[in-house]
Amino acid sequence: MSHHTHQHSEDHSHGQAHAQRTMERHADVAVVGGSAAGLGAALQLGRQRRSVIVVDCGTPRNSPAAHMHGYLGHDGLPPADLIAIAREEVRRYGVEVLAGRVEQVEQVEQVDGRRFRVELTGGHSVVARRIVVATGIVDELPEIEGLAGAWGRGVVSCPFCHGFELRDRRITIVATHPMALHSVPLWRHLTDRLTILASPELIDEEVVGRLRGAGISVVAGEAASIATDDGGNVLGIELRDGQRLVADAIAVAPPFRPRIAPFASLGLTAGPHPSDAGTCVGVDETGETAVPGVYAAGNVTDPSLQVLNAAAQGTRVGAMVAFSLADDDLDRADRTSSNQADWDHRYSGSPMWSGNPNGTLVAEVDAMPPGRALDVGAGEGGDAVWLAERGWRVTAADISQRGLDRLDAEARRRGLDIDCRRADANGRDPFERGAYDLVSAFYASIPRTPDDRAIHAMADAVAASGTLLVVGHDLTPMRSPIDPSVASRAFDPDAYVRVDDVARVLSNHPGWKVELHERRERPAGAATHHVHDVVLRARRR
Ligand SMILES: Cc1cc2nc3c(=O)[nH]c(=O)nc-3n(C[C@H](O)[C@H](O)[C@H](O)COP(=O)(O)OP(=O)(O)OC[C@H]3O[C@@H](n4cnc5c(N)ncnc54)[C@H](O)[C@@H]3O)c2cc1C
Repeated sequence: MSHHTHQHSEDHSHGQAHAQRTMERHADVAVVGGSAAGLGAALQLGRQRRSVIVVDCGTPRNSPAAHMHGYLGHDGLPPADLIAIAREEVRRYGVEVLAGRVEQVEQVEQVDGRRFRVELTGGHSVVARRIVVATGIVDELPEIEGLAGAWGRGVVSCPFCHGFELRDRRITIVATHPMALHSVPLWRHLTDRLTILASPELIDEEVVGRLRGAGISVVAGEAASIATDDGGNVLGIELRDGQRLVADAIAVAPPFRPRIAPFASLGLTAGPHPSDAGTCVGVDETGETAVPGVYAAGNVTDPSLQVLNAAAQGTRVGAMVAFSLADDDLDRADRTSSNQADWDHRYSGSPMWSGNPNGTLVAEVDAMPPGRALDVGAGEGGDAVWLAERGWRVTAADISQRGLDRLDAEARRRGLDIDCRRADANGRDPFERGAYDLVSAFYASIPRTPDDRAIHAMADAVAASGTLLVVGHDLTPMRSPIDPSVASRAFDPDAYVRVDDVARVLSNHPGWKVELHERRERPAGAATHHVHDVVLRARRR
């Protein structure tokens, strides 16, 4: 567990004077882009017991809009609220959503097959078996003064997203290329005060005749600037020839390009969209791109997808990625746990154990008469060793065999008999029931599940009148915003069982009494700087 302490402490240190150590994380799937498409894929994969790390830099395409329309079941919700709901849904399955930006992805060959190394700003990386590209597109807004500032409010592109709210208003379509006329019939149906401002070369007399015949006014000219009031509402358009058009809203059809620069080194390219208005990434019916193992979903594959469709496509692609991973595993007769691989990797370097037991363990357990103890997420075993030296009969459980091997070696060196067991706290019956006078979990990184399986497994392992002692970091510093252009998070604490989750389960449980649940300054020891813990101590009745 001391490695967990160490690792989280690194995260705590972010933003402080000393340098942050970079981490290499391991997952089945790295999803780049954590909006509708990416989170849709992540939800499927999390529910297929895949370890998933989503990286998101916080700039979804519709972020300038105040409301999201046309999403069945959530019509009118602010876009950020949908993302917040979806993030909580995926985190409940242990899917991590890291704030950060992917800079580059490269292919790496390992003994057990091909992997992708995803490099994040600030130096952290994620090594994954599959990639889902869900980075969306960039709308290349025409360079008209004042236009970008009103984008998503008075300046829009999609009649399905904004049309109803703009019905009966004076709408001007600023047409800078032929595709801009594509949605004219829809806008005309939404308002009888429609104007098209088109570059003269786009004006075909026959088309103009048809439009004017339908009551649309057509003006030949070039927009110079958009006039807005102090509140950012559109007032009209100044033309290059000095004319002024009064308008309540402006519709444009900007060319688009997918956000795929980080994947260029993999050979991922974009091809022309059928509309000729931009480019997108081609995929097969499973969502796989021309680069094997790299999938794509959402606007990056088709800019016409609204949020619901982007989420739906992501969901489908997530399912296809799950199939492809499961097929590989079946062929290798393997049921891999990337979560185990992640921890084994972390224990492959020099030992992380500070050599000291956790101060809170010492404070809480010192006065207890020794009995049987289970240390969950024991890692390299600083606490298990301390308990054994105090006369406890200790079982040390961890998902990482490498961590346990180190613990075992240390225990033998000290002549201690510690029972080391590789166990996944989320697995089937991971711990002996009702057997331990003390079950401790210190900074144990156990992925969350909606049914709190691991919490029940730990609680069930406690004997009558026994104690469950759970300590985690105060997560507040790890949730503070960061600037993804320079730094990324290495770890998402909200994808893991939190001390507060344990408190929630046990405080409503007739068989338990929560004796203590508090935030505390960590006693001196492993921590090199000022940090807080959250401590929970509960007794089985
Ligand atoms: C102004 C406007 C208003 C809209 N209104 C609506 C509406 O009302 N209803 C509707 O259904 N649709 C609306 N849309 C369309 C909607 O924006 C898209 O359907 C939707 O955003 C597509 O989802 P996506 O997941 O494919 O991409 P996005 O939502 O664009 O998400 C891509 C994500 O990838 C992340 N990302 C990109 N590159 C990286 C990187 N290198 N590293 C890490 N993260 C990265 C971004 O931060 C972003 O969060 C609107 C669009 C616009 C432009």
